[in-house]
Amino acid sequence: MHIVFAASECAPWAKTGGLADVISALPKTLVKMGHKAQVFIPYYRQVAKAVPSPAVILKSITIPFPSYSRFARLLDGGVVDGVQMYFVDCPELFDRESYYATPSGDYPDNAERFGAFCRAVIESTKVLGVPDVFHVHDWQTAMLAVMLRSIYYFDPVFRKVPTILTIHNGGYQGWFPPRTMETLLLPWDMFTKDKLEHYDKVNFLKGGVVYADAITTVSQTYAQEIQTPEFGNGLEGTFRSRAGDLFGILNGADYTEWDPAIDPHIADHYTASKLEGKRECRRDLLHAFRFEDVHENTTVLGVVSRLATQKGIDFIVDILDRLMQEDVVLVMLGSGEEYYERLLTEAAERYPSKMRVQVKFDNVMAHKIEAGSDIFLMPSRYEPGGLNQIYSLKYGTVPVVRATGGLQDTIEELPDGQGNGFKFEGYDSNAFWDAVQRALETFRQKKTWTAMMKRGMAQDFSWEKPAQEYVRIYERTIQNRGN
Ligand code: ADP
Repeated sequence: MHIVFAASECAPWAKTGGLADVISALPKTLVKMGHKAQVFIPYYRQVAKAVPSPAVILKSITIPFPSYSRFARLLDGGVVDGVQMYFVDCPELFDRESYYATPSGDYPDNAERFGAFCRAVIESTKVLGVPDVFHVHDWQTAMLAVMLRSIYYFDPVFRKVPTILTIHNGGYQGWFPPRTMETLLLPWDMFTKDKLEHYDKVNFLKGGVVYADAITTVSQTYAQEIQTPEFGNGLEGTFRSRAGDLFGILNGADYTEWDPAIDPHIADHYTASKLEGKRECRRDLLHAFRFEDVHENTTVLGVVSRLATQKGIDFIVDILDRLMQEDVVLVMLGSGEEYYERLLTEAAERYPSKMRVQVKFDNVMAHKIEAGSDIFLMPSRYEPGGLNQIYSLKYGTVPVVRATGGLQDTIEELPDGQGNGFKFEGYDSNAFWDAVQRALETFRQKKTWTAMMKRGMAQDFSWEKPAQEYVRIYERTIQNRGN
């Protein structure tokens, strides 16, 4: 089967979160299974820095707009683990400081940027080979599904090609003013409540949900949750209307990148049967955060997170006064919304000897935190899939999580420390605090704790099983389109 991935991120070139990890791991697993996978991402400034002069595959792709056209080039990103990477180059859209937004807000032309990207992908496949299936991701590429069933409706080469939309985060939907219909040359009769319109805005994700042949989310619980008002972010009705084509597939972990036995970014290697190296990783992490003389019995709590409301950063801030009374140190790595960056920096100033925050995106430091911490905190308000808790398990860093989405599906708390982590229900920092206390108590029982670490490390979340589930959905949609 030939699958084209269109996405706004792919590790290591362009990454803000878990989406990038999935786009790097799933295609290569499909290739290992014998399929052909190609990945298209924009040629952002960050990508250009890493790959400064790639070969040009297509010199000029015409992307029409109402009163002008844009012209993109298709660049060769090379074949990585059997996956052909393509970069869509359109400097006026993608040669910018950030991917989606500056600290003061989203780029105002995001509809045009990602609309043009989708069109460039479609046009490229007409030259390079039309795939059996398009796999698109989040609002940024959801419009590819819409375009195939509108602008490209009469193009016979696409009629039988299904689109799968994976929702990595339903909280971001791509809301744009009505005139976007004209900007992207979409017919106005699609601007209705049952199609692209949502409270007088063009909603990209909604369009994708309506027009994709199948929709997936990155955990089973989240697939159920988004059909409810609490988690649907206004699209619960649209999700329910597609319930028959909506599937939850839990994300896998790429253990070639995230495994303490081989991780090149950490100070020492370790495994479940040979844990000694983790002590060196802990020392190295504390050094990187300029902590000195931290006693062996002190619990090291780690956080790696996008700084956004979704991640429950305020829960962490809420419990700080209580937490800092305990024998702990807290290391945090995060970047994102300025509000949370400030909140955390100020909090760290209040507890200089016990809490440190690094505000930046730093992949190496993310690995160091996974390896060097004892406990990983992830009190997300909602969590479609979540990869960090899965990585934490592999690194013997016991997660404390809120029972939602993928966290619910991967972390199990059992009496007497018999599970793989700690979990709280409810929307409440007291419940989080109780869970942290349970974790700290268990940490003091060395035997139980070590057994818990090892239980998590032995779990296997590799990509083979989820990739097989995606293939089943590809096959189903291909069949339904009458192939
Ligand atoms: P989300 O996709 O919602 O951000 P996930 O847990 O699914 O959350 O994935 C987060 C990914 O992004 C992980 O690979 C994590 O290591 C990485 N990450 C998040 N914030 C940072 C950061 N500040 N620096 C480095 N990596 C980060």
